[in-house]
Amino acid sequence: MSEAPTCPICTMPEPLIADDGFECGTCGHEWIDEATDGIADVFDVNGKLLAPGDDVVIIKDLKLDGKSGGIKVGTKVKSIRLIPGDHPIQGKVDGRTVLIIADKVKKA
Ligand SMILES: [Zn+2]
Repeated sequence: MSEAPTCPICTMPEPLIADDGFECGTCGHEWIDEATDGIADVFDVNGKLLAPGDDVVIIKDLKLDGKSGGIKVGTKVKSIRLIPGDHPIQGKVDGRTVLIIADKVKKA
């Protein structure tokens, strides 16, 4: 585990994990997690190194857990973020934040 962040507004530790970062359970402030510690290098299906802010293209249909629809092949995901975990690519598709496995994308 990396060091737990504190709320930038009220400085309370142990924020809740939200879709886009953290949410403070005390004052309700939400903020983006910009920490990059602990993130391994992420490579696309062709072995190219991905960096935050890159655009990627989906190469396989993806299903979204518990939600209707999914992400179609060829969908472009702009300005990705990289996060720790099994689904290291975070991006927005149709206004929804999605997490994607690295070998399901290629660098745009
Ligand atoms: Zn707070």
